[in-house]
Amino acid sequence: MNIKDIKKQMFGEVKKLPIKGKCPLPMPEDLKAPFEWEEAVARCFCAGCCNVAEINDNLAKKLMRKIGELMPKSFSGKYFVVDRCILCADDFETPKLEEIL
Ligand SMILES: [Zn+2]
Repeated sequence: MNIKDIKKQMFGEVKKLPIKGKCPLPMPEDLKAPFEWEEAVARCFCAGCCNVAEINDNLAKKLMRKIGELMPKSFSGKYFVVDRCILCADDFETPKLEEIL
């Protein structure tokens, strides 16, 4: 019996589901670092694939629309957190604007 069969016996058929919260939160100093992209206005952390992306004004507006709030004057001290992003899904899902602590 191989290890896969043993696992199957112990746990049943294991389906790979996306696990929320498996990504470690990005470090505050990384979130506060100067942007590398000249168009960037904020950073967006994806809890689905752990990616931290710099985002431009257009995308920030789109995320704020999804959140249902107006664009702040500045994203200084804040960053977006999404459950899914375009790297791991079709779109940015359930965005939230969080304080960099
Ligand atoms: Zn993602």
